[in-house]
Amino acid sequence: MATFQGGLPDLTNPVAEAGTGPEVYVETYGCQMNVYDSQAIEGLLERDGFRLGDNEMGADVILLNTCSVRDLAEHKVISRVGEIRHRRTKAGLPQPVIGICGCMAERLGKDLRKGPRRVDLVVGVDSYDTLPGVLREITDAQAKAIPEAMRTQTGHRNDAHYVAPPALYPINNSHLVTIHKGCDYKCTYCIVPYTRGPQSEKAPHTILEEIRGIVEAGGREVTLLGQNVTAYKWRDGLDFAGLVEQVAEVEGLERIRFLTGHPKDMHPHLMDAIGRLDKVCPWLHLPIQSGSDRVLRRMKRLYNSGEYLEMIDYARKVIPDVTFSSDIIVGFPGETETDFQDTLEVIRRVKYDQLFSFKYSERPGVPAARLADDVPLEEKKRRLAELIKVQEDSWTREAAEHIGEVWAVVSEGEARRPAGSCRLRTANNRKVVLHDASLEIGQQVRVRVTGITNTTFAGELLA
Ligand code: SAM
Ligand code: SF4
Repeated sequence: MATFQGGLPDLTNPVAEAGTGPEVYVETYGCQMNVYDSQAIEGLLERDGFRLGDNEMGADVILLNTCSVRDLAEHKVISRVGEIRHRRTKAGLPQPVIGICGCMAERLGKDLRKGPRRVDLVVGVDSYDTLPGVLREITDAQAKAIPEAMRTQTGHRNDAHYVAPPALYPINNSHLVTIHKGCDYKCTYCIVPYTRGPQSEKAPHTILEEIRGIVEAGGREVTLLGQNVTAYKWRDGLDFAGLVEQVAEVEGLERIRFLTGHPKDMHPHLMDAIGRLDKVCPWLHLPIQSGSDRVLRRMKRLYNSGEYLEMIDYARKVIPDVTFSSDIIVGFPGETETDFQDTLEVIRRVKYDQLFSFKYSERPGVPAARLADDVPLEEKKRRLAELIKVQEDSWTREAAEHIGEVWAVVSEGEARRPAGSCRLRTANNRKVVLHDASLEIGQQVRVRVTGITNTTFAGELLA
């Protein structure tokens, strides 16, 4: 069951006997933190008698848990509201209650209650505890019209953290555990510090209890989550390295991953701990954003490319088999071709396993919005395509070196393609597809690497 750590009251007055209340369907957009939050929302609603649905046609209530990081992400959600309304009308079904949760709720608030695509409810990232109560009112056919103020719940509280129940179907067999919320960095392009509020840590004892609960429920792997997990700092001075040491002591837990690390906080003692602790997977997702020092300064990223590369070299020295992934933005205001080439140089140098690359998207109200968005869209697209090509070439060359190697992998379920195959993952986050669907999720096996397709390896099962 979902709970809270901090000063939030327990729920009372369930809407109905367990499993007999209105049906709620939660659809999740954006980052893993939203995936975790959706789990918490579902846990809270289930605890209060609501039923959980898995599609928009049967549900009484549809909650869209949203992302504001790029303009396109927000547009998708607004058109999704229109699409849901249209599909329900076309099928002759009553209109559901539609709510917008997450970052868009914080950023746009009451505006989402206006216009042709208006929604019935707006609930921001720190207000999910209000959902059962408000939904109880809205879905009660006998109830009088509820006050407008109840329909928009936003604003930040740093005293309360959600603790989601262990996921029934964890992503990639890894249970998400949010360890802190918000962000105190103010990268000039980023909306997150405004939508998610200041950084606030979940208490270590709550995190450990949550992880023990996951292990008790059969989980063997966790992914510690936060906008900057590496900036974790509890009141007694416990930092991320210290927290990971404690998590590694949880009996029965086999693997620990974490997302996202900020390069500025990736200190040598943390990398030493990652290298030393067997349970901590040797995979670092360290967004560089740009390889140009001039752009990094304008982004306020608080490191330069030289420091970043030194950190990568150190990690390679102390963390056996370590792999890297990263986020990159192309076309930040004022980015010249030379700046862009500096980014490509870093990609060639680091040899990332995976890159998440984005065209710069201006966000209203952030510091970079005061700079002219002066790289034309066509040029952003060209740079993005070139960057993707450089990454593909770099990865393909690197990946080819691994053909013939024998790897320990964990099965993560059926692969989408080809039919009858399954997905597996190494501790250092390499994905392998195997022509064998008989493995159970979580099963540990050894494979020989036989080839590469796109970003995955093909493998054969060893006895
Ligand atoms: N906290 C993480 C970090 O510091 O790298 C990242 C969080 S952010 C939600 C995920 C990624 O979205 C960022 O790493 C960045 O590459 C991208 N992003 C953020 N704001 C953006 C913007 N305005 N335009 C394009 N991409 C953006
Ligand atoms: Fe955004 Fe920067 Fe915070 Fe990451 S560290 S969430 S990019 S402000």
